This record gives sequence, structure tokens and C-alpha cells, in this order.
Amino acid sequence: MFNILKKVFGKTGDAIKEVVPEKKKEITKDEFEDILLEADVNYELVERLLEALPEKINRIQAFNSLISVFQYKADWKESDNKPYIEMIIGVNGAGKTTTIAKLAYRYKEMGHDVILGAGDTFRAAAIEQLSRWAEKLNIPIIATQQGHDPSAVVYDSIESAKAKGIDNVIIDTAGRLHTQTNLSEELKKMIRVAGKAMEGAPHRKMLILDGTQGSSSINQAKAFNEMVGVDGIIITKLDGTAKGGSVLSIADELQMPIFYIGTGEQPKDLIRFKANEYVNTILD
Ligand code: GDP
Repeated sequence: MFNILKKVFGKTGDAIKEVVPEKKKEITKDEFEDILLEADVNYELVERLLEALPEKINRIQAFNSLISVFQYKADWKESDNKPYIEMIIGVNGAGKTTTIAKLAYRYKEMGHDVILGAGDTFRAAAIEQLSRWAEKLNIPIIATQQGHDPSAVVYDSIESAKAKGIDNVIIDTAGRLHTQTNLSEELKKMIRVAGKAMEGAPHRKMLILDGTQGSSSINQAKAFNEMVGVDGIIITKLDGTAKGGSVLSIADELQMPIFYIGTGEQPKDLIRFKANEYVNTILD
């Protein structure tokens, strides 16, 4: 786990090592500032963290400073509902479809049966792309034609999972945040219908954020959270970037749990996010 994280955030780590010789026990505030800015942590957050620190900072102080950003309250709890219904939301291009494939792969590896619901009926390409993943991963999918009611997909996916004893239902949703105003109503209806098909569903509304997008990701997250309430975040595209610091900015601004990070384009490229390991990697 740590090694994978190291690989993902390695570039950030290397950038830091250029500034701070490895064996140096303490760093100055100025050096710490350089480390954080270099890692693309948002300036306002950097300044706020520095304010609370003394002029010379040891590793424990640096760790405590960074970990304090992750002290959000997670009121969402792991549940053992079967089927477990998850809705995946986020803007087009953030990595929703790919992340659904990654989650499905992960659940299959855990020995679970999975079904997908192609709930972005607004875009034919989204239905096709998700269907291709379903075929590749050899899992069933409920899909209709473009333009059909996505709530029907939600209902049918959950009914099918109940009938067949499937463990996990992962439902895609439309992500046309900037082009259509009725997205909010559509998502709310999908949630309402999920609750009709199974009490308490959806059990988790997971927001997908592109980790390379900085503050625009944060604004999107706020918009989706206002629309439907978000239970947690998956940050994608954290491979091949020295900007692992966006994780800190996102956690700080949104105060929502980060569940996973995406580290590539393949189904296996998803790792569980652990704040202490992430902070240690930045400081190593
Ligand atoms: P959607 O429109 O939100 O469904 O986004 P897609 O799942 O189609 O992803 C958009 C693009 O980002 C595709 O080319 C994906 O392969 C790519 N992508 C998604 N997640 C990751 C990731 O974690 N790392 C990298 N490098 N690319 C990703």
C-alpha cells in the first residue's frame, strides 16, 4: 500500500527532497512553505498552516500540521446492506466511468457480485463506454437508449440486484453541470427512485473529482453537494503529477472524506486513501 502511494506521490516527494536535505531534522517555515507550494497546495491553506507553526519545524510538527487538515467528521458509515447501492456523480471528464470500472473490479476481487447501471442516459457515448467496461470485466449492466429516463435504470438495476442476490450496484449519473439546468432535478429523482426500489438507498453518493483541476474541482464539488449531498470523494488522475497537494486543498475546502484515489486508467488503478500515509509520503 505504502509503496503504491509512494509511487503516486513520489514526484511530490522528490520535489520536496530537492528543497529539504533528507537528514535535516528541522526545517524553517520558509522551507516548509516552499514544500507545500511546490506540491500545489492552495496558497491560502499554506499560509493558514504556517501561521500556527514556530519558526523552526520538526517532523512531528509538520506531520501534525498537515494531518490536521483531515479532521473532518465522516457521518457516513460502512454499511452491510445487500445489495449495496452506490451512485457515482461528477462532471463529465472527471473520470466517473473509469472509476466505476475500478470500483467494480475492486468489489469483484473481494468476491462480490456487481451490477452496473448506465444512468448517464444523456450521452450515448457514456452508455457505450460503460457497456464496454461491463463486457471487459464480465459483469452485468442495465442500460437503456440515450434520452430514456435514468430513474428507470436506477429502479431496474436495484430490482435486478435484489432478484439475483447481487452484492453491489454501481450507478453512473449524468455530469453536464455547466450545460443543463435540470441535472439537479434528474439526480434528485434518481435518488428518490432508488429509495423506492430499496429503503435507505442509495447508501453512498460518491463524488468523482479530477485531481489535476485545482479550484474548479472544489467549486464543482460544492455545486453537487448542494444539489444532492455528497458522502465521500474519489480523486482521480493523481498519477503522473507532482501536484499531490491538491488532495490537501480538497480535503480542507470540502471537509468530506476522501475514500480512494485514482492512479491510472486501468481497473486496478484505485487505492484506498489513508491520510496518515499520504502525509508521511509528502514528508519523507
Ligand atoms: P467521465 O466523463 O467522468 O466518465 O470520465 P472518464 O471515465 O471517461 O475519464 C476521462 C478520461 O480520464 C479518460 O481518458 C480516462 O481514461 C481518464 N482517467 C480517468 N481516471 C484516471 C486516472 O486516475 N488517471 C489517469 N491518468 N487517467 C484517468
